[in-house]
Order: sequence, then C-alpha cells, then structure tokens
Amino acid sequence: MENDVFAILRECGFGFKKKLGQNFITDKNLLSSIVRGAGVEEGATAIEIGCGAGTLTRELSKAVGKSGRVVAFEVDKSLKPVLERTLADCPNAEVIFSDFLSVDLKELERRAGEYSVVANLPYYVTTPVIAKLAEEGEKWKSLTVMVQEEVALRLCARENTPEYGAITAQLALYARAEIIKKVPRELFYPRPNVDSAVVKLTAERGRLCVESAEYYKKVVRAAFAARRKTLENNLVNNFPLSREKAAEVLSDCGVCPKARGETLSPEDFARLSNALYGLLG
Ligand code: SAM
Repeated sequence: MENDVFAILRECGFGFKKKLGQNFITDKNLLSSIVRGAGVEEGATAIEIGCGAGTLTRELSKAVGKSGRVVAFEVDKSLKPVLERTLADCPNAEVIFSDFLSVDLKELERRAGEYSVVANLPYYVTTPVIAKLAEEGEKWKSLTVMVQEEVALRLCARENTPEYGAITAQLALYARAEIIKKVPRELFYPRPNVDSAVVKLTAERGRLCVESAEYYKKVVRAAFAARRKTLENNLVNNFPLSREKAAEVLSDCGVCPKARGETLSPEDFARLSNALYGLLG
C-alpha cells in the first residue's frame, strides 16, 4: 500500500496543503505501532480525526475487524477520490468530510457509544481538539494523538519541571497522559521541521475530587497567568481576595503562599480550588 498511496495521490492530482498540516504517515511499522499503542481491539469503535490519505484508517479498520467500525473525519474534500480508492476494501470505515472542531460531539456520542480516538493532526488544531474531547466528550476511553515532541512533553509533564503548565494540570481532570512513542520527522511525507511523539491520554474522569471543574480550571489559569509571580500574587490578581486572605487559604491547603504555580500537583490544585470555590464560588 505504501507505494500505492503515492501513486493514488498522484493519479488523483492531489496537492499537499501546508496550511492543513498535511504530513502523511506511510511507514507500515509506525502505523501498526500507533494502533497497538492506542489499544484498539477487535469489535471496538475507533474515531480518527484527520485521516489524510487513509493509511492509519486502513490499519484501524484491520484492528477493529468486521464487528467493529472506524469513523474518520477529514476537512479536505479534495481527498475524497483518494479515500474512495485507498479505503475501497474497508467496508467498516466511514469518512465524514467535515471540520472536527465543528462536529456536534453529543450527537456523535449518541451514535458511537464508547470509543477510542486516534489522530495525527496538524499541530495548531491538536490543543483545541484535545480540549473539545476532554471538556465535551463523555464516552471516549482513550485519545492517542501524534503531537509535536515539545507539546508531548508538556502534556505529560510532572510538577516542578519547566514543561509543566496550565494544559498539563487541566488535562489531569480528565485523563492520565503518557508518551508511547517518539517519532522522527523522517517518517512523514512531506517531512515537517520538527520531531513528534505519540501521546496516549487514558480517561480517568473522577481521579481528582473537584467540586467545580470550571473553578479548578480558573484556579489553574490564574496560577500560571504570570509564571514568575508567586501563587499569592496570582490569586490576588485574579480573584476578589485580599493578600492576607489569599495567604491564609493557601496555608490552609498546605501550600506555601510564596510558592509558584508550577510546584503544585493536580491534587494540590484540586484542594485549593475546592477551598476557593467554598469561599467565593
Ligand atoms: N492521518 C493521516 C496520516 O497519518 O497520514 C493524515 C495526517 S495529516 C498530519 C492531518 C490531516 O488532518 C490532514 O489530512 C488535514 O487535512 C486534516 N485536518 C486538518 N484539520 C482538520 C480538522 N479540523 N478536522 C478534520 N481534519 C482536519
């Protein structure tokens, strides 16, 4: 299929669009290791976002077998003739030509039941896609996404490291993140300017005990609003709190008021957000 895909793309007169992040994977070993790492099994429903020429879609289709199905989204309609050919022998795969960011996820979940997401996306839509699934989705079991290596390190970072930030702490509300594979740029066509990594986010929705998810996110955003400022300062600047009250709440939660946001674990943020929600929410 590897060579066939390029022949089909050529025969269909397809032109790669940089603005849609069209860097395709054709390496057979990489494709099968992504699907294995995603844990997609026979009989499962897999949702792929950004299926390109369908190489990963084919691999997913094989993994879920006759009793499973693949629902793939692709924003670029000019790939339609390509996908009609590359997926001709995959009756369990359906392609929906639409921007995944404008898909009604509730409606999709009504039709899909429990599902796993697999995506090799352009870097600029990775964060909004993860945010959409994390915040609106209720039935995904895992999200396996190819991201720029630097983003992978941020998604999987631990507190007290430079990579740890608001996105890491916010994601902890919904999932556990791990890097399952580093991918050199040479394995894409056309070759991008950066290396990538496959990150698997496994749903762990009730892991943190928070009274209000909105408040948790607000506290995390405030804590990282000015990274070099102390938590006390960031709280005073973002909540209706006096300096004394901010210091008192932080101390009550076992956090030093002079500490910085990056030193707090997601569990620390959960305690702090519950205390602030009780006081101000
Ligand atoms: N999955 C294929 C692969 O691994 O070879 C293609 C990956 S390519 C990096 C990303 C694909 O996502 C492109 O085909 C692009 O057109 C599509 N895409 C970009 N933004 C999208 C969006 N918002 N919704 C659906 N597809 C999108």
